[in-house]
Amino acid sequence: MSIRSITSRAGHRADIRPSLAHDHSQCIRMALSQAERVCAAEGARLTPLRHRVLELVWASHRPLGAYDLLDQLSKEGHKPAPPTIYRALDFLLEHKLIHRLATLNAYLGCSHPGEAHGGFFLICQDCGTVEEVRDPLPLSAAVEKLAGQARFQVSQSVLEVTGRCQACQS
Ligand SMILES: [Zn+2]
Ligand SMILES: [Zn+2]
Ligand SMILES: [Zn+2]
Repeated sequence: MSIRSITSRAGHRADIRPSLAHDHSQCIRMALSQAERVCAAEGARLTPLRHRVLELVWASHRPLGAYDLLDQLSKEGHKPAPPTIYRALDFLLEHKLIHRLATLNAYLGCSHPGEAHGGFFLICQDCGTVEEVRDPLPLSAAVEKLAGQARFQVSQSVLEVTGRCQACQS
């Protein structure tokens, strides 16, 4: 099976609005099996700790901070030092399995891992759910164009939009 077909399935899955009721165990299962495939394809090792960190990041559609992870892992009897957690998070970032949301200083599972994409996130200020919006390419292109007009060279553009999700509006 090619990575392409895996990621297009992931994109389909990502169309579920995370703020609406859905079988989240499906999201977790999908994320973990995709991570295993992405790592296998890239010759990277998804160690038990990296696997568990990814699973914890995917526990919900709310981003998780490094210290929340540390707390959870300590409760489970692991006593990882903060640098160990950061290394595991760096590994997951490097293989594009998670995103870091700068405004929240927290991590979110990527809903279409292994696929090159700009970041566009809708952050609900009421329930904390974050939705990763698929296909932000016209938006990324617009950002790059405007940055280019200002003679600014973009190395990364992650757009974080704060507001109220569909579920929280009613
Ligand atoms: Zn879910
Ligand atoms: Zn993503
Ligand atoms: Zn909400």
